[in-house]
Formats: sequence, structure tokens, C-alpha cells
Amino acid sequence: MSRERYEMVVGLEVHVQLKTRTKAFCGCSTDFGAPPNVNTCPVCLALPGALPVLNERAVELATRAALGLGCKVNPVSIFARKNYFYPDLPKGYQISQFDQPLATGGSVAIGKDDAGADLQIGITRLHMEEDAGKSIHDRYPGATAIDLNRAGVPLIEIVSEPDLRTSADAGAYLRTVKQILQYLDVSDVSMEEGSLRVDANISVRPPGQTKLGTKTEVKNMNSFSAVERALEAEFERQCALLDSGGRVEQQTLLWDGARETVRPSRTKEGSHDYRYFPEPDLLPLKVDEKWIGDARSHLPELPDARKKRLVQEFGISLVEVEQLTATPALAEYFEAVARVSGDGKAAYNWVMGEVLAVLRASSGDITHFRVRPADLAQLLNLVRDGTLSHTAAKRVFALMVETGKQPAQVAADEGLLQVGDEDAIATWVDEVLREHPEEAARYLAGEKKLQGVLVGFVMKKSKGRADPKRVNQLLSARGG
Ligand SMILES: [Zn+2]
Repeated sequence: MSRERYEMVVGLEVHVQLKTRTKAFCGCSTDFGAPPNVNTCPVCLALPGALPVLNERAVELATRAALGLGCKVNPVSIFARKNYFYPDLPKGYQISQFDQPLATGGSVAIGKDDAGADLQIGITRLHMEEDAGKSIHDRYPGATAIDLNRAGVPLIEIVSEPDLRTSADAGAYLRTVKQILQYLDVSDVSMEEGSLRVDANISVRPPGQTKLGTKTEVKNMNSFSAVERALEAEFERQCALLDSGGRVEQQTLLWDGARETVRPSRTKEGSHDYRYFPEPDLLPLKVDEKWIGDARSHLPELPDARKKRLVQEFGISLVEVEQLTATPALAEYFEAVARVSGDGKAAYNWVMGEVLAVLRASSGDITHFRVRPADLAQLLNLVRDGTLSHTAAKRVFALMVETGKQPAQVAADEGLLQVGDEDAIATWVDEVLREHPEEAARYLAGEKKLQGVLVGFVMKKSKGRADPKRVNQLLSARGG
């Protein structure tokens, strides 16, 4: 295998749409899914004489993202024109940041290396820029349509150091960055809606060599797993090329998911000169220390900190906390249930079990889940104090999902409250012994292992309402 003679070297560029109501340099809406070209104005259509005005909210969100990714926010950054011609770029340039970006020098931990130390991936820079419009090639036969709703939508570009060595690490890096951005609440981070996009730079070199090989850029990947597969395919291609005495050519490649392969891009991107120069219509962006300090002190709790706290506070395991903190909404739901019920373990079991099962079956999301955390906590308490059996609780939960009612109410309405009353249980036990004479005779003659079977009969007869502990005690007394 030729690939064992080479090491993969990967750096990723992640473009993220910021969660603003309006565009980066005009007041047009950023709503996704609006009819084509509705969200446009003279500024984002690049009509003569129109001047950009920077969206303060976009700067706030970009700064928050930078701080959350451990970057240093620069007191002065400069917007620049990145010149290129493309039909969906009406100005003929994109406003971006070049040699003086908003932030530099961050890092992200993506797990442990072989020696058990944190595996840190460096972030070279984080800069602000605007999105281009969209060319639509598949709507009108033989023609291309242009939708400029996206033109001018605020983005950040997060550029990593070439620190990634495997496609799996690239996937882990992307999932970590996405999770941090979700916790920071700066973006919807939806690859389907284009609010998160990834370009990958990849080169290969013999292990131990410090000099980087010639890199190619791979674009057009629509999921994190597509990024991983594209990296594998391009790694394979470069290794084979070098082994056969060839040279890797610096170029832009497009991932073809259907064929699981990369192909050269028709445009000559990567080789051209963007002729960056400072945007004359925008002042340098200045953020003072106090403003940065305020932003830092208002950062929400990030995934790593939350995991540590939940483990400590609620006695759940590291594996469990990984699942619970997958999204901030799920983590918040769990925490509310655990806090109100005072039982982290039961809260974990119910949230990961019943709650997620309902959400998966209905493709719902936890933010709009009908059973509120306080009500689920109340249900857990009813189980703990013996008012509801576990079986009955599941039935009550299903009805809570359906009706939105409180658990005590549902349990009372359905007659599911657990019966601890001796007489009632004794009656059920007698009936069961009568109805199953053979098992009863063997049990009374000393065959103790039949007790479980008989308890099962009683539970069934009582529709899950009998308190199993009392049933066992009564049967033991009879079996004497
Ligand atoms: Zn506009």
C-alpha cells in the first residue's frame, strides 16, 4: 500500500453564516427560503453610488465566535476587496478581510492523542466577510439563473493550521467547532441551508519530513462525512501520483459524492490573483479592550466546561455526558429535569431513552418538545416515591406527550396510581393463585423460583398498579 509511505496534512476553512436578522452591509433580510431576489437593495445589488454600512450585530457575533475558539481579537482590522469575476457577485469583488483579520491565534481540543494529552488544532485566523449570491444551473434548461438573496449575508471564515493528520481528526475538528458555535449561539450551523460550508486543503509528505508538500483544495462537500471521504479519496490520489513519479499540481478540486471521487474545478481558482486592496468605503474596524472584555465576560458556558460541571453535579459518566451535551438544547433539558427531580441518573435514563425515542419517531426537536422538564421531573418523583410503577410511568409519559397534561393528573385520570393497599393486593394474589392452580401448587410446595412468575401474573392483573414489593412480601408469606 503506497499510502503507508505518506502522511496526510490537512487544514480546513470553515465558512459560517452569522445569525443576524439583516445582511452585513445593508438592511436586507437574511431569511432563508425567500423567493429569489426579494431580499435585495441598491447596496447588495451593487448599484452605482450605494455605500456599505457595517452591521454591528455581525461584529458582536464574530467577536463572540473568535473568543469562544480561543482567538485573540485584534483592536484594528481592515476590510478589503477580494476581486474576482463571477455572475453571482454583482460588485465584481467580495468584501472580506485579508492581511489584518478580526482575530488570530486560536485553538480547539478535539480529544486525546495516543499519549493521552489533549489533541489541539490551531486556528490561524478568523475573519469577517460577505457571502456571494447563488447561481442556479438546474432550474431552466440551458440557462443559469441568479438569486442574489444571499449576496451580502454576513459570514465568518475560520481557517485552521495544517494540524490535522487523519480524515477522522478532520471530522472530529468540524464536529467540535460546530458544537462550540452552537453553544455560542452565533449561527444555525446548518449544512443543508448553507450556513456552514467547508473547504479542505490537503497535501502529503513522507512521515518525519517537516516541509509541506504541494496542496490541493477540495470543495463541494455537503456533510462532515463527505469531507472525510473526500480527504481519503484525495489522499489516495496524491499518494498514487507521487509513487508513480508524478507531481501534485496546486489546483482546486470538486468532490463528486455520487462517484466518490474528486475532479478538477472548471474555474481556475487557486491560481488567480485576487488583487486584494483595502475597501475604501469602509473605515478600519476598531474594537476597544473594554468592548472585547465585555464580550468575553458574556460568553455562554462552552461544551467542555458544561460536561465537567454536569459530571460533577449529577454523578453521570463521561460517556453519558457526551451524549447529553451533543446540543445545548438537549443539555439544558437534561439539566432542568435533573435539577428539579434531584436524580441525575434517572433524568439521564429518561432523556436518552423515552424522550429521544419520541423525538426520533416524530422528527421533532427538543426545544419544542411538549413535555416540559418540570413535568418530566414530577413524573420521575412519582416513580421514586412509589406512586407510579415504572411500567405505568411509561404509559403516563406517552399520554403526557399526547396531551401536554401534568403526570399526576394523567395518572389519576387513567387509574394508574400504584396500589399499595394490602387488601387490594391480597385479592389480586388470591385470584392469581386460583387461576393458575398448577403453578400455585408447585410454589406452595416450596418451588421458590416460581415467585417471579406469579408476581408477573399479579402485575399484569393489576395493569401495573400493584406495588411489586408488597406483592413479593404477600407471596412469601403464603409460601411460608
Ligand atoms: Zn441589501
